[in-house]
Amino acid sequence: MFQKDQDIFNILFEAVSEGVLVVDDKQKIVSTNASFDTMFGYDSNELIGGELQTVIPKNYRPNHGKHFKGFLTKKESRQMGQGRDLFGARKNGTTFPVEVGLNPFEMYGETFVMAMVIDISVRKHHELEIQQLNQELEIKVKARTKELQKSVEDLKALNTELDEEVKKRIEAEQKIKSALKREKELNELKTKFLSLVSHEFKTPLSGILTSTMLLSKYKLAEQQEKRDKHIKTITDKVHYLNNILNDFLSIEKLEKGKINYKNNTFQVSKVVNEVIYSANMLLKEGQKIHYPRDIDHISLFQDEKIVELTLSNLVHNAVKYSSENSIVDITIDQDDNFTTFTVEDNGIGIPKKDQKNIFNRYFRAENALLTQGTGIGLNIVKHHLENLGGSISFKSKENKGSTFTFKIPNKAKQ
Ligand code: ADP
Repeated sequence: MFQKDQDIFNILFEAVSEGVLVVDDKQKIVSTNASFDTMFGYDSNELIGGELQTVIPKNYRPNHGKHFKGFLTKKESRQMGQGRDLFGARKNGTTFPVEVGLNPFEMYGETFVMAMVIDISVRKHHELEIQQLNQELEIKVKARTKELQKSVEDLKALNTELDEEVKKRIEAEQKIKSALKREKELNELKTKFLSLVSHEFKTPLSGILTSTMLLSKYKLAEQQEKRDKHIKTITDKVHYLNNILNDFLSIEKLEKGKINYKNNTFQVSKVVNEVIYSANMLLKEGQKIHYPRDIDHISLFQDEKIVELTLSNLVHNAVKYSSENSIVDITIDQDDNFTTFTVEDNGIGIPKKDQKNIFNRYFRAENALLTQGTGIGLNIVKHHLENLGGSISFKSKENKGSTFTFKIPNKAKQ
């Protein structure tokens, strides 16, 4: 090299900020620049002629010779220590992270390696700081997420509580509303009941009074027929009043659960005969009751009185709420478990709006108010039937007629 080139080289060699180290193929240090010496804590030229191992931390030395030889055979420039952290060793024994670029070259027939070394302590320090900051951030994010999750859960719980509260309030409101409605209905029913009783008792009682007054006027022996007629009127009306009182009494008994049903085996035809016999006395002009067909073989093990009461109630109503010349049809069917009684008429029917209340105590449909009645009968029979495992229902159309059906088990439970 000419002196001029040598000078330029020396200037560049000393000026570069990277530490530069040149070793020969025996790992002897041939040259270092000022940056390198400062970085590793040596005086200038102190390292020249020394071993490369001097600047390598002790724990890396055993493997280093092998890497060096490998590198010499390949002789390609490359970055050193890819994929792992490299460290340099200072004169005072401390170590620090470095990045090293290796460049092999030949001169005067010998092989040399030039290493460009950068101290990356500050960068590493920053990296570490960033890593730490990141970790702290992650922890904060996690904590925040947890807090948020808790808030969301709290809100959810609060929402459910509120939902429950709202539900409870709606339920309570509905209960109060229906209690009020019931109370109102009850009051109406009571009023109805009082007017009904006074009406129901007034008419027969004044009938009885008239008959007794007339009775006292028929003194002659030949007026016996007239006397008999009035005595019958009185008896009928007393019976009627007695029936109403009995109905009230059975309501009380049903209410208190005081009823003992008495079961026995009986022919359904016997009950039908009795019911039709007594209903025939109430028939209007031209009215007819059709006797049910094919019932001779039907028998029941039940409380006979209740079956009779129920059927007679339905037949009496059918007669009462139909006009002259109408027909009341009775049919009875029996299957393996139940016997079904149907009473059909083509009378005044039940207005649609009143149908839902028909089995309520004292309830009377609007179109029935001019006919005598108390609104108790159906309520009583429904109670009895339910007690005995049976049921009652009806279909009706105003001015067309009604069909009442009740079902009772063939065999009462013992
Ligand atoms: P009552 O006949 O003494 O009023 P019920 O309890 O037997 O009492 O009947 C309740 C109400 O049902 C009657 O007032 C009437 O409005 C209606 N009802 C019952 N049976 C019939 C029927 N066959 N046709 C029309 N309405 C009926």
